[in-house]
Amino acid sequence: ATMPPLLASIATAGRHGVLVKSALVMERLGQVDRAALDKTGTLTEGTPRVTDVRPVPGGGLGAGEVLALAAAAEHPSEHPLGRAVVAAAEERGLRLSPAAGFASEPGVGVRARVGGRTVEVGAPGRLAAAADPGSAAAALVAEVEAGGRTAVLVRYEGRTVGVLGVADRLRRDAARTVAALGALTGAGVTLLTGDNERAAARLAAEAGITDVRAGLLPQQKAAAVGEQAARGARVLVVGDGVNDAPALATAHVGVAMGRAGSDLALETADAVVVRDELATVPAVVALSRRARRLVV
Ligand code: ADP
Ligand code: MG
Repeated sequence: ATMPPLLASIATAGRHGVLVKSALVMERLGQVDRAALDKTGTLTEGTPRVTDVRPVPGGGLGAGEVLALAAAAEHPSEHPLGRAVVAAAEERGLRLSPAAGFASEPGVGVRARVGGRTVEVGAPGRLAAAADPGSAAAALVAEVEAGGRTAVLVRYEGRTVGVLGVADRLRRDAARTVAALGALTGAGVTLLTGDNERAAARLAAEAGITDVRAGLLPQQKAAAVGEQAARGARVLVVGDGVNDAPALATAHVGVAMGRAGSDLALETADAVVVRDELATVPAVVALSRRARRLVV
């Protein structure tokens, strides 16, 4: 009971389900005056589901083949979208060929060799240098994105053979968390995402966020945080992915979602949400402010 307030509040934060890595971090949590949240896995539950499997007409492959190739390539992926693709293939009882030479690029997608052929799975416009404008694939992407879902391209030997649609649910406590962070900081909350504009806008509206930055690569997420910091803001960033690591490192305080968070995000972050509840984040900000009032 004689612990200094900041250390005592680290213990309290732990009971709330947030691992705060140092007393300095505990103190900085109370200083933040802006918040920026990642979308997939942070505002959303992080267990997206494949909603559409659309082979490109004339692409030579059926829906099952498109999904099986994508899942084979995504098998080693730790990205929520990769896990969704693998789960969808397993649910349909598809047999996955082994993949070799797996490589993933944060915010873009994955590449592997399946049956000796190159398979790429990832973001439209990122994977394909020319995103097949006006092509049948582009029309499928537009259809999927118009429904507020995330479109994922499946490419086989450099040709787009299919488009997958993926959707994720907002966390139950997302809107409550956004409102609490807004009230604590007196500023609007920012959404940072690598996902497409339409999916981002739909989710942001549900969560009560008006400042939406979509289509960002990992370094662009960090740059968005850096811009706010350059204007004097002390930015709290919450994220879960490898793609969030640069933004977490740039933040005044970076917080990682622990349950599905990537190792890099957990290492880079100053604090980790161990219990899978987003609402613990504003709770520890408030806790830090109370501890600081005790210190001064
Ligand atoms: P977010 O910022 O919402 O967490 P990411 O930056 O991780 O999203 O990903 C941005 C986009 O890159 C995704 O919407 C997806 O199109 C693509 N992408 C990234 N990783 C993968 C993957 N493993 N499989 C398929 N697509 C991926
Ligand atoms: Mg994420």
